[in-house]
Amino acid sequence: MAIQKIGVVGAGLMGHGIAQVSAQSGFPTVVREVSPEALAKGMGMIQKFLKRGVEKGKVTPEAMDATVGKLKGTTELKDLADCDLVVEAASENLALKRELFGALDQACKPDAIFASNTSSLSITEMATFTKRPDRFVGLHFFNPVQLMKLVEVVTTIATRPDVAKAAAEWCRAIGKTVVATGDSTGFVVNRLLVPYMLDAIRVYEQGLASRDDIDNAMKLGCGYPMGPLFLTDYVGLDTTLAIAEIMFDEYKEARFAPPPLLKRMVLAGRHGRKTGRGFYDWSTNPPS
Ligand code: NAD
Repeated sequence: MAIQKIGVVGAGLMGHGIAQVSAQSGFPTVVREVSPEALAKGMGMIQKFLKRGVEKGKVTPEAMDATVGKLKGTTELKDLADCDLVVEAASENLALKRELFGALDQACKPDAIFASNTSSLSITEMATFTKRPDRFVGLHFFNPVQLMKLVEVVTTIATRPDVAKAAAEWCRAIGKTVVATGDSTGFVVNRLLVPYMLDAIRVYEQGLASRDDIDNAMKLGCGYPMGPLFLTDYVGLDTTLAIAEIMFDEYKEARFAPPPLLKRMVLAGRHGRKTGRGFYDWSTNPPS
């Protein structure tokens, strides 16, 4: 089951990175966006990343040209017809993904493998939007895709083992390390990480320690590169709240319940780095 040609659907934060690493690893890669503007924005992010690499001496101009040469942008689903693997990285919305996978199922060759990069939706459910649930996996990349080594390869009870194996092999071929996981909300990383971030907010909310002491405690005591409140700002408080709500809905366990302070900070527009204010003030450098 050789994977040679790749389709990436969505060229946002995640999709542009997935398309870039795929093309950089020599795979012809077709990127589909909804409009020429969105496509230009995604392709622009790839160009910018590569140019920075050239400036820093990490990418040769020849390698940059070779990567760009492997990429083809489109707004037409039919251009994905001969792809062996289609990685969906469109917006996190179940209704949107339902329509998209239905259309992809019609447009793509019957033996193409479908993968979703979803963070919180059910892979099993998305597979039912197609007539190929046995050829459907989750490939959960991490942000920024160009730098983060991990991909969680998610299989459902319907996934064929040779399909999971082929998808994992492609991830390794683009330089990633894979972990295999079943289809359970949050997979491995968010299942462990989200309660940790929520607990840090609870500790802060209860006044047990200050923001800086909580973050320093985990950096210096556990060797983490950043503290949990800084990390929550980085991920986005709105995103963290949305994921917590989905996980709480799935598991009904108190450790996934969003703390009241998180809800109120999101209501007040303190979404972290993206809005300039969260637990930290991001208008200063470094954040204060
Ligand atoms: P984003 O909003 O940055 O990008 C989504 C892109 O999808 C947009 O450019 C949008 O125009 C495009 N799109 C929407 N409908 C489309 C369609 N029908 N065809 C083609 N393109 C379409 O979002 P993102 O952060 O890149 O997230 C994408 C997916 O990756 C989501 O499922 C999310 O859960 C998952 N994810 C995100 C992160 C993260 O840190 N942001 C990490 C892992 C996984």
